[in-house]
Amino acid sequence: MKLLNTIKEFAHLNPNAKAYISPAEEVTYAELWERSERMADYLLKQNLKKQSPILVYGHMEPAMIISFLGCVKAGHPYIPVDISIPIERIVKIIDSAQTELVINNSEKPLVINQTTVKVADYEDVLAQQGIEEPITPSNWVRDDDNFYIIFTSGSTGNPKGVQISANNLQSFVNWMTEDFPINGGLRFLNQAPYSFDLSVMDIYPALATGGCIFAITKEMIARPKLLFEALAKSNTQVWTSTPSFAQMCLMDPSFNQELLAELSVFLFCGEILPVSVCRQLMERFPKAKIYNTYGPTEATVAITSIEVTAELLDKHQTLPIGRPKRDTRILLLDENGAEVSSGEKGEMIIVGPGVSKGYLGQKELTEKAFFQYSNEQAYRTGDAGYCDEDGLLFYKGRIDFQIKLHGYRMELEEIEYHIAKSQYVKSAVVIPVYQDEKIEYLLAAIVPNQHGFEKEYQLTSAIKKELGELIPAYMIPRKFTYHDELPITANGKLDRKKIKELVLQ
Ligand code: AMP
Repeated sequence: MKLLNTIKEFAHLNPNAKAYISPAEEVTYAELWERSERMADYLLKQNLKKQSPILVYGHMEPAMIISFLGCVKAGHPYIPVDISIPIERIVKIIDSAQTELVINNSEKPLVINQTTVKVADYEDVLAQQGIEEPITPSNWVRDDDNFYIIFTSGSTGNPKGVQISANNLQSFVNWMTEDFPINGGLRFLNQAPYSFDLSVMDIYPALATGGCIFAITKEMIARPKLLFEALAKSNTQVWTSTPSFAQMCLMDPSFNQELLAELSVFLFCGEILPVSVCRQLMERFPKAKIYNTYGPTEATVAITSIEVTAELLDKHQTLPIGRPKRDTRILLLDENGAEVSSGEKGEMIIVGPGVSKGYLGQKELTEKAFFQYSNEQAYRTGDAGYCDEDGLLFYKGRIDFQIKLHGYRMELEEIEYHIAKSQYVKSAVVIPVYQDEKIEYLLAAIVPNQHGFEKEYQLTSAIKKELGELIPAYMIPRKFTYHDELPITANGKLDRKKIKELVLQ
């Protein structure tokens, strides 16, 4: 695979160049290559089923990237799982992917009560493993083989695994390195945990250009003082984050070009990029270019882009998501599957080489969302959009219950499914509460079962405690309201519109 060969070349030509910096450790290209060889060697000796996915668990340790490369060099896709994911959900992922091996890169032991899966500790593996022979490229994942599988929220209550092949990823990396000013061994900020594909926007473009990844941890994000100290030392040149994260940083007046003197590119993806964020960034970072990019995990990170200029900001109150990358098309279809007329709103369908083959082991879900269009793979995004007279695409919200909260993607139905399973709950509806066209928080409207709590807040904390074992903290609604019954529509479904009016009055 071209990407792996490029990283290998950097490791030979520039072995001492830094590839990864985290608070605990720095890793050079030579170390990245050599350690991932050892990991691959270990994996090849485990008698795993051919191409079976390996779950890689941890946070921002360089061991994560080393393990990712170790997996793909041994011919196995990896499933990145951040430490913020509760164990019950990890077990679901293991079951769904039929994973035989977990690599634990975190400092804590990972106990999984399942006999079919082996947990290997990264440090132990590397301490024991020499390289007897170099790993030959014939072992690497290639072409349509899966490179990684990212699990996202699923409406049925189970996460679904998006399969991204070597070809999908290469198409994305080619676009990034050709169309964005990110070449020349720059320093890339990594904000997103590796279980989110936004992180792919910095990992592989950085490694494909001899650049270095500067990783920030969740401790830093929770403590702005630590974050700003780290940023000041980071020499970040390419900034990749959700707009929400940049918005949070902008709350501190010292977030400016003085703090990040070298910063030349902002890459945003994952949610609406507000005009106000761009205006502030332009003022505070006069040397930096800003890009809005759009795409779902299912089409490999992002597939449209536009540079946000002062002119664009003057012209639009809502920013466009731009134009698709060269090898990709976006169709806008109406409910009957016909293309809408120019300027009209339709569902965005992505067609091109970045589109995944589908959800791992989920034939029905895959057939619903993916199809072949003129011999190319196509994906129904569930996003509404339209194209203006200049050919620019605009995002116009969702056509289903998938939402974004602080950059995290989730299905309201999945949260409802887990709340409804609680012993304290008869039925539940989750309502997104908006401020300035952006979801501020989630509210759960609940019809409770009989319970022994005196106060509502006690009931709420009991339900939240149960949820904490099933879904990540960012999916747990902030507010809970309790009702004797919830309004239903004429055809017997919970009436979300009325419930919203009821709880927000
Ligand atoms: P994810 O799979 O986590 O990347 O989430 C994909 C979804 O995020 C898309 O289907 C959109 O609904 C939303 N999204 C991604 N990028 C943008 C953007 N630039 N503007 C608005 N929404 C976006």
